[in-house]
Amino acid sequence: MQIKLFIPGPTEVKDIVLKKMSTPLIGHRGKEASDLQRSISRKLQKLMFTDSEILLSTSSGSGLMEGAIRSCTRKKAAVFSCGSFGERWYEMALANQVKADCFKVEYGQPTRGAMVDEVIKSGEYDLVTITHNETSTGVMNPINEIADVMRKYPGIVFCVDTVSSLGGVSIPVDELGIDICISSSQKCLGLPPGLSLCSISEKAISAAREVKYRGMYFDLLKLYEYMKKKDYQYPSTPSLSHMFALDYQLDLIFEEGMENRFKRHMAMANIVRKWANDNFKLFPEEEYASNTVTCIENTRGISVQQLNQILGMKGFAISNGYGKLKEKTFRIAHMGDITIEEIEELLAVIDEILKKEV
Ligand SMILES: *Cc1c(COP(=O)(O)O)cnc(C)c1O
Repeated sequence: MQIKLFIPGPTEVKDIVLKKMSTPLIGHRGKEASDLQRSISRKLQKLMFTDSEILLSTSSGSGLMEGAIRSCTRKKAAVFSCGSFGERWYEMALANQVKADCFKVEYGQPTRGAMVDEVIKSGEYDLVTITHNETSTGVMNPINEIADVMRKYPGIVFCVDTVSSLGGVSIPVDELGIDICISSSQKCLGLPPGLSLCSISEKAISAAREVKYRGMYFDLLKLYEYMKKKDYQYPSTPSLSHMFALDYQLDLIFEEGMENRFKRHMAMANIVRKWANDNFKLFPEEEYASNTVTCIENTRGISVQQLNQILGMKGFAISNGYGKLKEKTFRIAHMGDITIEEIEELLAVIDEILKKEV
């Protein structure tokens, strides 16, 4: 039986999009490859509301996150974390000998603008990382408020992880002043895992020029310069199969309409949040609850693992809590191409199970 995925990545992929992955291959040094990758870049600029160039990487999102913090930190990075994915950025800095400090809030809480201001006004930092949508806790950080603070510090490179929000929530990159906005294929974009992408500003490129050791595969400056010189091609062989699917999926996203897509995510979030409040409790404060994944506090002490096992027999999958939040919370993702009807169906099935079985 095929299991319908309500987990925060990978998400459901439409059959027609999946089929695009099996398009016969083309050479990656030909005009066709340039045309394909240029087309994707233009479409992603539209989705991200940006004039900055786009970089594509045959890796999951973590690759570009590591590339960003390593390639663009000259002095020291300020990593703001409200969960596991924020912390990951700090681990990447340490593993690459990039100087960094990590500023955490309690799980379930957001990173606030005032907190960012308080930290970066010291002048010690020249790069900031923010997790827009913290998938481990279901918190969506107040990116407008943070962007307002960042505007006061034009020398700092502003990096944002939008892995679990781009394609589900409006992220106006230029308006927010984001220098590097990173995402992955397998979440709200509704594609198989294995491809990541980012926007990269002139400021971020200038910063990278001042960094001597930027690594190799994820050297953002090298990727940028190669792409510019070689008409949207990349130094290594890219996953062209993903490119075919992404180019097509972006058309489908525009066909649905970006605003409609964002509204659908909001509507699904509202349904799941209401269900969570009626049956359990939302883990984050409602004001900061994510529009793409809902993290629910397990106030009834059910066995999440058992719930998921039974769901599996009925053809559905949700997620347990992440890391130390396992069994204490569980998560229902409503991202990508999942519909309102499918979310309602899932919740009805969970209701049935909770009535008698767990
Ligand atoms: C999934 C996720 C990541 C990791 O992305 P990969 O594509 O698995 O490397 C990073 N940040 C957030 C917020 C995520 O949800």
